[in-house]
Amino acid sequence: MTIALDTAVSSLMTNKRRVGALKSLGVVTVGDALTYYPFRVTDPVPVTPIRSIAVGVKAVFVATVRELRVVPMNARRGFRVEAVLDDADIVGRSPRFDLADPDVASRYAHVAPGTVRLVFFSHNRGYADWMGSRLRSGSVVVAAGDPTVFNDNLQFTHPDVVVVYGPDGRPGEIDSVSAALAKVSRPQPVYHASSRISTDHIHESILGFLRMMADRPTDTRTTGASSAAQSAPTPGPAPNPAPGPAPTTDEPVPLDPADLAHAIPDILPESVRTHNRLLHRAEAFLAIHDPESVRRFHEGIRTLRFEEAFIAQTALLTVRRHATTIDAYPCPQPTGIDVFDVDAGQTRQGKFIASLPFALTDGQRKVIDDIAADMTKSAPMQRLLQGEVGSGKTVVAVAAMLQAVDAGHQAVLVAPTQVLAEQHYASINRMVGGDVDVLLLTGGMRLAARRRVLGLAASGTPCIVVATHAAFSKSFQAPNLALAVIDEQHRFGVEQRETLRRKSERAPHLLVMTATPIPRTAAMTWFGDLDISWLTELPGGRKPIRTIVVPEADGHTMARMFSHIRARVDAGERAYIVCPRIDANTEDEETSSTSRKRSSRRAEEAGPMIDDPFDGTDADGSNEPKPPLHSVEEIADRLSALPQFQGIELATLTGRDDDETKRQVMDGFSSGRTPVLVATTVIEVGVDVPQASCIVIFDADRFGLSQLHQLRGRVGRGGTNSWAFLISRAEPDSLAAQRLEVIRTSTDGADIAQADIELRGAGDVLGDAQSGGRSSLKLLRVVKDADMIAQAREQAQALLDADPELHAEVNLAGAVLDFTRGNEQFITST
Ligand code: ADP
Ligand code: MG
Repeated sequence: MTIALDTAVSSLMTNKRRVGALKSLGVVTVGDALTYYPFRVTDPVPVTPIRSIAVGVKAVFVATVRELRVVPMNARRGFRVEAVLDDADIVGRSPRFDLADPDVASRYAHVAPGTVRLVFFSHNRGYADWMGSRLRSGSVVVAAGDPTVFNDNLQFTHPDVVVVYGPDGRPGEIDSVSAALAKVSRPQPVYHASSRISTDHIHESILGFLRMMADRPTDTRTTGASSAAQSAPTPGPAPNPAPGPAPTTDEPVPLDPADLAHAIPDILPESVRTHNRLLHRAEAFLAIHDPESVRRFHEGIRTLRFEEAFIAQTALLTVRRHATTIDAYPCPQPTGIDVFDVDAGQTRQGKFIASLPFALTDGQRKVIDDIAADMTKSAPMQRLLQGEVGSGKTVVAVAAMLQAVDAGHQAVLVAPTQVLAEQHYASINRMVGGDVDVLLLTGGMRLAARRRVLGLAASGTPCIVVATHAAFSKSFQAPNLALAVIDEQHRFGVEQRETLRRKSERAPHLLVMTATPIPRTAAMTWFGDLDISWLTELPGGRKPIRTIVVPEADGHTMARMFSHIRARVDAGERAYIVCPRIDANTEDEETSSTSRKRSSRRAEEAGPMIDDPFDGTDADGSNEPKPPLHSVEEIADRLSALPQFQGIELATLTGRDDDETKRQVMDGFSSGRTPVLVATTVIEVGVDVPQASCIVIFDADRFGLSQLHQLRGRVGRGGTNSWAFLISRAEPDSLAAQRLEVIRTSTDGADIAQADIELRGAGDVLGDAQSGGRSSLKLLRVVKDADMIAQAREQAQALLDADPELHAEVNLAGAVLDFTRGNEQFITST
């Protein structure tokens, strides 16, 4: 069987529990496994003569076995394997010890021999016998582990062991002492583990896949020892631990990148690789998962990071090239009319602006102006509008759409959810419905209604279509489409732009709006093919939101908070209560259905999980298991039992509710029938209930910063005072607590995004990690790697200039296509 990157790991492993555990980490194929990157690498373990070993300091040593006992344990059914070793031979320099490394040799030069005990426990007779057979008296072994003291003896419990010579002096599992020392003291990659799989087992699985890809499932030089290792049962006490996919430890023959190159072809053009002094792709994976040194590990990371940047930039530049080869409908504004002139009533755009019950902010005026100028041209506009939550982006969008309609064309506004599409539809209809056909298109509509809308759009009649992602389906055609506005979707990918381009006879002008800004410099590099506008001020004299961090364990403050909410509700206001999960069971469902829909929904609900794939640090500085997240179900139960909520009706809302239910729940909330809404992050985007004044976010320490900011923006939209309560279980002074401090003290979305982006990977910030799609950006960091991205962009441009269709770079072309398709999932999975 040939093994490729898209081979399913389930076809390579017999251990179904392991397969399930890997899947829960998002690892389904071999390629997923290789790109499940470690987040750090350990320092090499020093080679230490036994006499110099200090308790608590990891050590590697070489020694000869003097005594071996396999003892049945009475209390617990099982066995204890105990070996006593000393390093008299090596200290006395038996000629068998070739300490090739002079540094290691010098450590043994002036030291007395020492004695050490190795101990292994197992409930499994086979394991005990096997370990006993390796540690027969007279054998020479290299061992590594954490030293402890037991009964005054230096002891290693379950150390790693490699047998160099058997008792008869015959070769063991590896060629020489120096080779064994080098192998055992190597730096080890450390992976984000879970309660279902340890970092060691993840590592072991990945090495197994690499060996199989190298077509070297067993060692060819020392078959005896290796097959013993392969059939070795693993130690207790875990029930039936099964070995990994291949011989997992004690693999004496180092993996050779040359054996892997056929299974892992390079993606970067060779000239690019050599110019940037990068490794071959196969070398890079080996350097990361099986590093011979810390330096090599970092070379591997740098290589694959650059590769991500290069693929992404090649994809973005390709889209840009396509976009500029096709014209858009120019949408002229009637000459001599200032759209801000109250008398400019001739155009729908002018009438709309004149009819607004408020004055536009300066920012809104400028952006409307810039867009208007772009749209008069036939080169398609490519503009990103970033604006704080509540900064009034909708008005800008409507003005732009009316310019399209005024010019006799069509416009579409794509909202991320059905609820939001309906809200936009209602408010836009209210604002301009008398003058323009405003149509609603959603997946949930009845067939007859949808047909009517699709028919109107296809007829080319000038209109505004407000849609969900249904706008990306093939059945939606708008041959006269001049403008597409994408609302609140920084997840809007490359492929969506391509899709939109095919809706119309011409390429539409494009306006992408988002409240989740990324820092300006990063945005320039990343969305370099888009023009960027910013709305920085909040209109209408809005009062800033007061943000309070409440430790969950502080019952007194919790109670005061609930009383406060009751008082606001009694004053006619509303409160959101946000929890990261739907119900108590949503997290451990890996064994059940794996349809895209389900997994993406889970990602939506559990979206806040923060994990920077490789940044040297864990997001919260530890790998400790965390308490389970609060769920909507649980919190709704708890709140309804509280005295503060007696006589108040609570409603719940999650991504699992159908659209009709969602609509009813939102109605009940905005009308005040159910003034307290317990919800998941479904309310994150765009929901606009002006009476909402309080938001309580449970497990706030486990959310991304931009997401907290976004959630907080749901309140205070009606000019009332407003409060955000961040409920936290973070330790004081922890990284998580510091992150909450950023939110508490800043209301500037750009600052918050900057802080967030520095803590997280680009993939996360650009949205894929939360969309349930597989991230194609796992290593690249938008801010820290800005220089690398810029270089990649320049080199990608040069390559495309010479070979626009990438005819000479088949692997790169494939990777670019995957990248583009990967982004498509952001939207289609909603
Ligand atoms: P967002 O940028 O978050 O999408 P919206 O477009 O939903 O913000 O606007 C938020 C609220 O502010 C809406 O109720 C809108 O009518 C109001 N608004 C927009 N522009 C202004 C303005 N210039 N003055 C006062 N209120 C405004
Ligand atoms: Mg909005």
